[in-house]
Amino acid sequence: MLRRTMLVLLLLAPVALAGAYWSGAWRPPPRWDPAAPLELHAEPNILTGWKLARMALQPETCLAAFAVSGRAVEPLPDRPSEVGCPLENVVRLDGEGIAFRPSRPVVTCPLAAAWALFERHALQPAAARHFNSRVVAVRHLGSYACRNVYHRSAGRRSEHATANALDVTGFVLANGREIRLPRDWDRAEAGAFLRELRDGGCRFFKAVLGPDYNAAHRDHFHFDRGRWGRCS
Ligand SMILES: [Zn+2]
Repeated sequence: MLRRTMLVLLLLAPVALAGAYWSGAWRPPPRWDPAAPLELHAEPNILTGWKLARMALQPETCLAAFAVSGRAVEPLPDRPSEVGCPLENVVRLDGEGIAFRPSRPVVTCPLAAAWALFERHALQPAAARHFNSRVVAVRHLGSYACRNVYHRSAGRRSEHATANALDVTGFVLANGREIRLPRDWDRAEAGAFLRELRDGGCRFFKAVLGPDYNAAHRDHFHFDRGRWGRCS
């Protein structure tokens, strides 16, 4: 009898919890609450990817993520385009103690959120592990370019056409050392660091393309928050 009562209670507990959740009477901690904005500093969990994806459909959840994370963000005005290259929901990319060279790129807010996660949970930990240092600057080739994939005259627009992608060529460490593509890809420690960034980036970006993908990416990493998942 007791065993049966325990079983019923066990079965009812999740139902009661769900009821309390939907009625608003109970909320889990924000990082486990699907309705709460993404906390960029919190350890990523099973909801992280889902909350990142939601930002593309509900732009306000992206700015909310920066707000609850105590991170400044600089939203920029939308700019319509008649040729399929609109700027919508864009911000000026910022790092935590990281400078962007030659300048701070304009990117979509979801790409900026993915970058914030990448920086904190992949880039800086990898720099600490491999070089006992931290990254203080990132060199890039730009984010926004009104063009098709691979500069073809026809075909679909690149994620760069909406500033939803960033091409990165190198990382400057606090100790002055610089790790860059393509020079360091085949060097032992630096190459392992770069591969770790690619694999770590895949947790937060939709696509990460580098030297292993094709010759067009031998000298940079392409990070984007587009629809097509690819990690190579
Ligand atoms: Zn690119």
